[in-house]
Amino acid sequence: MINHEGGKMATKGYCVKCKKQVEIKEPVESTTAKGVKIAKGKCPDCNTTVCRMGGISK
Ligand SMILES: [Zn+2]
Repeated sequence: MINHEGGKMATKGYCVKCKKQVEIKEPVESTTAKGVKIAKGKCPDCNTTVCRMGGISK
């Protein structure tokens, strides 16, 4: 995937409430019970918890 912003890579996840991809606010890296790395944070629009597979992209 190409980052058109050129530099800062945002951690994005799918917000089920907004039904769209959002930039995860204050993402925290976590691991599921299956050992899968995820990033967890809040939707900037509605404050719902948003998760992303694969951890935080830097
Ligand atoms: Zn949202």
